[in-house]
Amino acid sequence: MRIDLHTHSRVSDGTDRPSDLVRAAAAAGLDVLGLTDHDTADGWPEAAAEAERLGLVIVPGIEVSTRTGGSSVHLLAYWPDPRDEPLARELAAIRADRDARLERIVARLVEHGLELTVEEVRAGSPDASSVGRPHVADALVARGYVRDRSQAFARWLAEGRPGALRKHAPETAEAIRLVRAAGGVSVLAHPWGRGGHRVLDEERIAALADAGLAGLEVDHYDHSEADRAGLRGVARELDLVVTGSSDHHGVGKTDHPLGLFTTDPEMLERLREQAG
Ligand code: AMP
Ligand code: ZN
Ligand code: FE
Ligand code: FE
Repeated sequence: MRIDLHTHSRVSDGTDRPSDLVRAAAAAGLDVLGLTDHDTADGWPEAAAEAERLGLVIVPGIEVSTRTGGSSVHLLAYWPDPRDEPLARELAAIRADRDARLERIVARLVEHGLELTVEEVRAGSPDASSVGRPHVADALVARGYVRDRSQAFARWLAEGRPGALRKHAPETAEAIRLVRAAGGVSVLAHPWGRGGHRVLDEERIAALADAGLAGLEVDHYDHSEADRAGLRGVARELDLVVTGSSDHHGVGKTDHPLGLFTTDPEMLERLREQAG
């Protein structure tokens, strides 16, 4: 039983259509696929239809943009009802500010001498309900300014670069409560990736566990062996579920092939029990 609980489609910043992603997952030998586009559930129906055809199980998810201590924290929400009013309203607010931020990012890059328009970013990502920096990166690649998304982030979009503008995001604890009220369960995505250990120390994770957090994504590309061992210890301490996944973005992110890391079936079962 191979379970990958964190992937992205073209509905956010992955590069595959949801149905193509499901086909790729089946070809990669996965039995269970979590589709977790950023701040949207719009890819679920297409993924579910293809999964049914192929006999694969979809775990419907959303990677919710949140904030803790002023820093960005990604929260994986599994099985929430996307029609639940308070959750839907918050996700719509995040996406609306993603749209507004896109205009600010493009203006910023133009100030720095690049030629770029919001329209061309949009045209390059017609299926995206949730638009982000990776789409700006794609437009910079198309213009020939950079080689790939990684270089676009390194030069223009990563933290500390001109295009790294903030977007609206709810407090992580508040998002956990919204997800829970919508019948879902929450898992912290790559909690110690990209300097996250400075934000999400054990005390902060304990507070989130009190707010209803169900698990930690321990096995992730952005974690060192030491991060993984440390997080496993925190999970044991706080009785949290442990997951592993690829964070696959199609060809949008190298070194993240489907099934790169997987989740123990028993852990998925524990998550499932806490949902609903
Ligand atoms: P945004 O949603 O606009 O805040 O952009 C965050 C997304 O950009 C995440 O999904 C990351 O996967 C991606 N990302 C962040 N840093 C990098 C990087 N250095 N190279 C490529 N993609 C990145
Ligand atoms: Zn992403
Ligand atoms: Fe993430
Ligand atoms: Fe992700």
